Amino acid sequence: MKIYNFETVDDDPITTDEVYMREALKLARKALEEDEVPIGAIIVSQGKIIGKGYNLTERLNDVTAHAEMQAFTAASNYMGGKYLKDCTLYVTVEPCVMCAGASYWTQIAKIVYGAIDEKRGASRYGKLYHPKTRVVPGVLAVECSDLIKSFFRNKR
Ligand SMILES: [Zn+2]
Repeated sequence: MKIYNFETVDDDPITTDEVYMREALKLARKALEEDEVPIGAIIVSQGKIIGKGYNLTERLNDVTAHAEMQAFTAASNYMGGKYLKDCTLYVTVEPCVMCAGASYWTQIAKIVYGAIDEKRGASRYGKLYHPKTRVVPGVLAVECSDLIKSFFRNKR
């Protein structure tokens, strides 16, 4: 097992992304415990987690209650403004069209996602992200997609 030192981890962007993706995965597991589709998201600004969310569409009876939407709202509240220009979103599954659209309005600097969503992923629908948003796919993709797959397997 690797022990991460948060003081030095910034030197290696891939490792940093994995560390934060593990935090998003924790939230995805929380969603799973509540019988929600297991997707988790966090937003990080200058090494600090300023927004968290996990899918709550069942509990809230709200199709817009995706993990990313919760995290955007939390981060904007924390920042005291609607723009998230210096922030990074970590989400365990590729954002859908709605969440990519919301991210556009936040002008977020970077989006890191885990599993690719071949059916509903935003990248299948053209350029939906803000031109200033850097998108990094496939971080801890296997772990992220295993969680989703096991959820739907158990549903059948
Ligand atoms: Zn979404």
